Amino acid sequence: MKLKKSEKLWKRALQVFPGGVNSPVRAFKSVGGNPVFVSRGKGTFITDADGNKYLDFLSSWGPLILGHAPRKVVKATRRAALNGSTFGAVTAAEVELGELITSNLEFVQKVRFVSSGTEAVMTALRLARGITKRPMVIKFEGCYHGHNDALLARAGSGLLTLSGNIAESSSPGVPDDIVRNTLVLPLDDSAALDATVKAYGDKIACVIIEPLPANAGLLPQRKAYIEYLVELCRSHKILVIFDEVISGFRLGFGGYTQREQIFPDIITYGKIIGGGLPVGAIAGSQAIMDNLAPQGPVYQAGTLSGNPLAMSAGHAALSCLAADHGEVYRHLEKLGRHLETAFAAEVTPLFAGREWQIKLVRDASLFWLSFQKAGDAHIVRQVTQIEPFAAAIYARIFHAMLERGFYLAPSAYEVGFLNAAMKTRHIDAFIAALKKIVATLPEKIDAF
Ligand code: PMP
Repeated sequence: MKLKKSEKLWKRALQVFPGGVNSPVRAFKSVGGNPVFVSRGKGTFITDADGNKYLDFLSSWGPLILGHAPRKVVKATRRAALNGSTFGAVTAAEVELGELITSNLEFVQKVRFVSSGTEAVMTALRLARGITKRPMVIKFEGCYHGHNDALLARAGSGLLTLSGNIAESSSPGVPDDIVRNTLVLPLDDSAALDATVKAYGDKIACVIIEPLPANAGLLPQRKAYIEYLVELCRSHKILVIFDEVISGFRLGFGGYTQREQIFPDIITYGKIIGGGLPVGAIAGSQAIMDNLAPQGPVYQAGTLSGNPLAMSAGHAALSCLAADHGEVYRHLEKLGRHLETAFAAEVTPLFAGREWQIKLVRDASLFWLSFQKAGDAHIVRQVTQIEPFAAAIYARIFHAMLERGFYLAPSAYEVGFLNAAMKTRHIDAFIAALKKIVATLPEKIDAF
């Protein structure tokens, strides 16, 4: 594969950006090697600077559920750009996107648009703290909510002692004073949740969770656990934030909330909501949302919030998703099922006699290759259950797939995204390539 132009660009990028990138995982650190520079995308394919074409399973980390450059989204964005890109004043485009969301989701009465998932979460935390007048937040190990100070935290060393589960900062630059108000708990553990709520209940403003955690593999949670979490919080007047930045508009138009009919107090959205442009949102009931300025006292603002280009792209994308009674989601589910069936038939048998296996974990159009020991049948629900050997095997598979023209996430901890521009034949090609690669890999874990 020719990569001359990518290599040249990488050298230049290293001169101008820390680590060569504007977001860390793009640097391929966890799989090794240098990144390829993407120059364009159409449908389900991307093309790099040297003209190599890849079937894209990244979808820009989720936003592109319709694939690259969908006609209707391009048209709406172009039209908006011709009319001027930003005014810092109210526009019809933001009202239209807001109405499209509230008219399709009965649990959303009001929204506030921002420019990223991180920003949405930051505001959601402030809103919860402002309403409850309490300082603490609970988050879960393995859930990612953007690079907010309060949530760049890991569990303290003495987990579950009264003082011990106060978090420690997970990045230099985040003072301990800030994460002192963050409690980090394992997923799928109602006893830990009980103990923490008992110990700190009247100090806890909110619990934030990805109801389908998709940032440390795909860690499906038991519905009963999520229901329990919501009930427990209600009884202690703790607000629940579902971070649906990935799952929103992906598991169906109404994300996890609508599909499972479990209703949090605040929902954060991002990715798909902007149709590929930078948009995030905080959503909830009128009673909750009206606490935001200027209606209420909780401050939030943004020069480019509700940006007309981004609103138009988001509106065009969400209109496609809401159309034809969910035809796009039915197509994606068909692709997902096909992936599962083909994986079981073609790839699973290759693990006979090996020390390790890949289990395909899938929910709707999200999937994850879970590396487990032979004979291990359990469903991974906590980040600590992810095998340390996963990274080395995945790195081999990642590079071999890239060479064959399949672009997967450059980390074993990241999920894959199907998009609506895909056809079953693309899934078949992916499975055929994966099968060939797995067949050549060592049987023993130590060999990696
Ligand atoms: N929440 C979740 C669940 C996410 O997956 C992400 C990003 N991957 C974020 C928040 C942060 O969003 P952004 O990168 O747009 O700031």
